[in-house]
Amino acid sequence: MKYFRRLSAKQWKTLLISALLVCLFGVLGAVRHTQRPVAEKLPILLYHSVAPAQELNPANLYTLDVEQFKAHMKYLHDNGFQTITTEQLSDLIYRKKKLPPKSVMITFDDGIANNLEYAYPVLKEYGFHAVEYVITSYVKQEAEPFTPGKKQFMNLPRMKECRDVFEYQSHTDNMHYYHTPGSPILLNASEDGIRADLRKSFALPLMRKTSFAYPYGRYDTRLLRMLRELEVVQGMTTKRRYVTQDSDPLELGRFMFRSTNTFEEFKEFVDGRYVPKK
Ligand SMILES: [Zn+2]
Repeated sequence: MKYFRRLSAKQWKTLLISALLVCLFGVLGAVRHTQRPVAEKLPILLYHSVAPAQELNPANLYTLDVEQFKAHMKYLHDNGFQTITTEQLSDLIYRKKKLPPKSVMITFDDGIANNLEYAYPVLKEYGFHAVEYVITSYVKQEAEPFTPGKKQFMNLPRMKECRDVFEYQSHTDNMHYYHTPGSPILLNASEDGIRADLRKSFALPLMRKTSFAYPYGRYDTRLLRMLRELEVVQGMTTKRRYVTQDSDPLELGRFMFRSTNTFEEFKEFVDGRYVPKK
């Protein structure tokens, strides 16, 4: 106590300010640690099909009510999110560049025509970008009128019109099926067969050849090697996890949406709060 009594008023002030600063930085450090900026944990969203309520079939979990999709996009817009391209994704995972804070990537699998009919105008309104992983053998060469309620795949003229929003990448040419129950053809076909399929897929006009989505999210070491040989630099899985600078470029996680997923889950994914359940 003797020592403290010897401190002058000025010394006490300095001591108090120092103590306060130590506390403040301690608290800030803890907050920073628990709430990492979203750009360090990039969420990639995965959709399949989007349609208005009257066209929905409750048995089809992969078609999202367009109103639900609009709510997702509005949330991203209102909260300052930016949508990135596959090129920007490569900036992150290969060139270790920082993405804008609150980045998100929007992807669709299969090349279903309703994406261009119902999702495209919403994305365009907000100035968003999206990546469509197309099963290229299903794509029609000629224009075809859109028929509501019918399962229809994209056609080239319409895909061309929507290039201001969508970039197109491969989801195989015609290897999106099961060879035997539970075992996708890509894990069973010959190497030559797979290479020929992928080359055919890349040859469709409008296709970029840098990113690939695994049908059913399934892959093996042989497929990873073949993709590297074909200079594909991104592989999209269906594993629920964020992408970071340290992610394996051929095993990128995505957050898939089914009609049963809630808006709360959506917010959890994009706000960087998702923690894998054990
Ligand atoms: Zn698919």
